[in-house]
Amino acid sequence: MKRILVTGGAGFLGSHLCKRLLKEGHEVLCVDNFYTGRRHNISGLVSNPNFEILRHDICFPLYVEVDEIYNLACPASPIHYQFDPVQTTKTSVHGAINVLGLAKRIKAKVLQASTSEVYGDPAVHPQKESYWGNVNPIGIRSCYDEGKRCAETLFFDYHRQHSLRIKVARIFNTYGPNMHPQDGRVVSNFIMQALKGENITVYGKGMQTRSFCYVDDLIDGMVKLMESSDRFTGPVNLGNPDEFSILELANVVIELTGSKSKIVFRQLPKDDPVQRQPDISLAWKELKWKPQVKLREGLKKTIQYFSKLA
Ligand code: NAD
Ligand code: UDP
Repeated sequence: MKRILVTGGAGFLGSHLCKRLLKEGHEVLCVDNFYTGRRHNISGLVSNPNFEILRHDICFPLYVEVDEIYNLACPASPIHYQFDPVQTTKTSVHGAINVLGLAKRIKAKVLQASTSEVYGDPAVHPQKESYWGNVNPIGIRSCYDEGKRCAETLFFDYHRQHSLRIKVARIFNTYGPNMHPQDGRVVSNFIMQALKGENITVYGKGMQTRSFCYVDDLIDGMVKLMESSDRFTGPVNLGNPDEFSILELANVVIELTGSKSKIVFRQLPKDDPVQRQPDISLAWKELKWKPQVKLREGLKKTIQYFSKLA
């Protein structure tokens, strides 16, 4: 049994990770400031004596004793991370410094939830870990993209300078139950709109692509990465390589919900990446990990979850 800290543990991915780690018999400390996370996501875990919640902003130092740290604290949806961009950069950068300082003091292994956004609007397709990316440093997505890039830099400098055991996961678009219904991300938006019979808002012409990973697969990958040999630091792509245009996604959601919603086209947000698809050969080689859940299957489970909220 290990003592494990999950920052951002009340969020979408964090809540699934806490649940999984508790199921494996570990003690879990969930740290969250509830900026985008919700008590509802972890309400089923609070009766577990191995689960503890601490309301804390990761921009400030944290003094706890644990064996492993998963650093997930950071809003992930564009509308949320752009609402207070200065805070987003602080959360990524100061948060990483605080988590790394903690890991150094207590000699804990630490995993960073990085993102495919480090590749920006990629000029290389599919994206391999060796690609350095194409990121606008001064745009509306930069607080998130550059914040996460700087966090990766800090992780590797702590590794080189202080021999810290680090793991860096570059997570691609992930969806599933416990996403915030008003989160603004494409899967939750389309499902909520379809269930309510509202127009489905496709930004731009909907020809931009994303590759969607079901949450259970992603959590498997994160845990496998944490458990991998200390020699393997990443960065490693974790995502589902099945690539879809946003228009295709809209049509699949309409079909699976049986909705009468119509597709409407809205302005494409600035710096919206044109295409995104992970090359996951490194994850397969090092972790023997690849996603199992197909888009339609994962969407059905997600629709079931959202239909209780709509
Ligand atoms: P989320 O917004 O649901 O969860 C983030 C959690 O962090 C929330 O509970 C929020 O309250 C908490 N948080 C935010 N700022 C904080 C702070 N300063 N101190 C403490 N807690 C704070 O997002 P998610 O989808 O669960 O993403 C989790 C992590 O995974 C993020 O770091 C995100 O960048 C990364 N990621 C997610 C995806 C995805 O598709 N879901 C893709 C790439 C990367
Ligand atoms: N998108 C859309 N309609 C929506 C929400 C998002 O067409 O209601 C598009 C968005 O412009 C982007 C893609 O869907 O091209 C994925 O957006 P999301 O915010 O989920 O994540 P991103 O990968 O852009 O961070």
